[in-house]
Amino acid sequence: APPHVAVVGGGFAGASAARALKRQGADIRVTLVEPKARYTACPFSNAVLAGLRDLDAQYFGYDGLQRDGIDVVAASATAIDAEARRLRLDDGSDLAFDRLILAPGIDLMLDAIPGYGALGAEVMPHAWQAGEQTALLRRQLEAMDDGGLVVIAAPANPFRCPPGPYERASLVAHYLKAHKPRSKLLILDAKDTFSKQRLFEEAWEQLYPGLIEWVSLSFGGRVTEVDAATKTLTTEFGSHQAAVANVIPPQRAGAIAAAAGVADRTGWCPIDPVTFESRLRPGIHVIGDAAIAGAMPKSAFSANAQAKACAAAVATLLAGGQPAAPKLINTCYSLAAPDYGISIAGVYEPREGLLAEVAGAGGVSPLDASADVRASEAAYAEAWFDTITGEVFG
Ligand code: FAD
Repeated sequence: APPHVAVVGGGFAGASAARALKRQGADIRVTLVEPKARYTACPFSNAVLAGLRDLDAQYFGYDGLQRDGIDVVAASATAIDAEARRLRLDDGSDLAFDRLILAPGIDLMLDAIPGYGALGAEVMPHAWQAGEQTALLRRQLEAMDDGGLVVIAAPANPFRCPPGPYERASLVAHYLKAHKPRSKLLILDAKDTFSKQRLFEEAWEQLYPGLIEWVSLSFGGRVTEVDAATKTLTTEFGSHQAAVANVIPPQRAGAIAAAAGVADRTGWCPIDPVTFESRLRPGIHVIGDAAIAGAMPKSAFSANAQAKACAAAVATLLAGGQPAAPKLINTCYSLAAPDYGISIAGVYEPREGLLAEVAGAGGVSPLDASADVRASEAAYAEAWFDTITGEVFG
C-alpha cells in the first residue's frame, strides 16, 4: 500500500501541505482532517472591518483539494499517539498514518487578560480568527457614534501576523476619517516596537493626522485587566473607556499541539528547520502559526512556504532519502489605506537549528515613497491574495 500522510488543519499551512504532497507526483495517500466546511481567511479581513470588502470574499472551500485526490475528513483531531502513529477524531474514529503534518494554527488565550475570557470576547472582539468575530467588530464600528474612542489592544511577541494590528488601526482610521471624523483610535501595545513601524507612522501622519495614538509598553501600553461591562481597559498607567474595544489576547499553538505533546512550555512547537519534524515527537511535523519557525513571522505566506518545504521533506523521508535544506521566502503586505500598500520581505534558511534570516536578502518598502509606489504595492497585495488562495484552495 502507498504510504499515508495525515494532515491536521485545513488553513493556509495544512491545505498547502496536502496539495503540495499530492503534487509531488509521488504515490502518497493524503488525508486532510478539518472540522469546518469552509475556511475563513484572515488576510484582508482588516479591509472587511473597514467596510471595504465583503466577508464573503474571505471564504474558501475544499472541493479543489478533493478533486486533487485528497481525502477530506470533516472532523477534529482530539488525540494523537505518535508512537502508535494513530490519530483520534471527535467522531470517535481512528486514523493510522505513516507521517503526520500538524497545522492547527493558534488558540487565543482568552483568560490571559483578567476580565476578558469567552464572555469578554463577545463584547470586546479580538477578530484574530476571521469570521463571526470580524462581523461582530464591524457591526460595533458601524453602530458607534461619531466622536467615540476605538481602542486596539495589541499583544507581545510572538503572535499571528506581526503587522496585523497596525494595518487594522490604519484601515479602521480610514473608515473613521470618512464616516466618524470626530472619533479617535488608541493602540495600547504590550511591545515597544512593531513591524514596519516607521512606515506605518509615516502613513498615519500623512493620512490620519491626530487620529491614531500609539502607546508603547514603556509608556503604559500593556493591558493588565479589562471590564467587559463598561468596555474599560486598564494598564499600569491608568484606564481607558472605549466605545469600541478590540482586544487581541496572547496566543499559543492550537490545543491539539499540546495534546499531542509537540508544544513546549512556550505554548508553541519546536521543529527541525529542514524537515519541520517536531523536536519532541518523531513522525509529527508542525507547520504554520503553531510552529517555532525562528525568524519567520507567523503569516499565511510563511505557512504556505513552510508547507511546501515540509511536503518535499516528508515525501523524501517516505522514499528513504535525505531531505535537502530549504530556502523559504516571506512577504507581508499591509494596507494603510485602500490605495496605500507597504511591505516587508525576508529569505530564511536553516542555521544552528533554527530558521534564520539570510542577511541582505529581504527589506521593507522605502520611506518617503511616491503615491504611485504605495498604490502599486496595494495592487500587489491584492494580487498576492488572489494568487495564494488560488494555489491553496482553487
Ligand atoms: P489557520 O489559518 O488558523 O488554520 C488552522 C486550521 O486548523 C483551521 O482551519 C482550524 O479549523 C484547523 N484546526 C485547528 N485545530 C484542529 C484540530 N484539532 N483538528 C482539525 N483541524 C483543526 N498573513 C499573510 O501572509 N498576509 C496577510 O496580509 C495577513 N493578514 C492578516 C490579518 C489579520 C487580521 C490576521 C489575524 C492574520 C493575518 N495573516 C496574514 C496571518 C495568517 O492569517 C496566518 O498566519 C495563517 O492563517 C496561518 O495559517 P495556519 O494554517 O497555520 O493557521
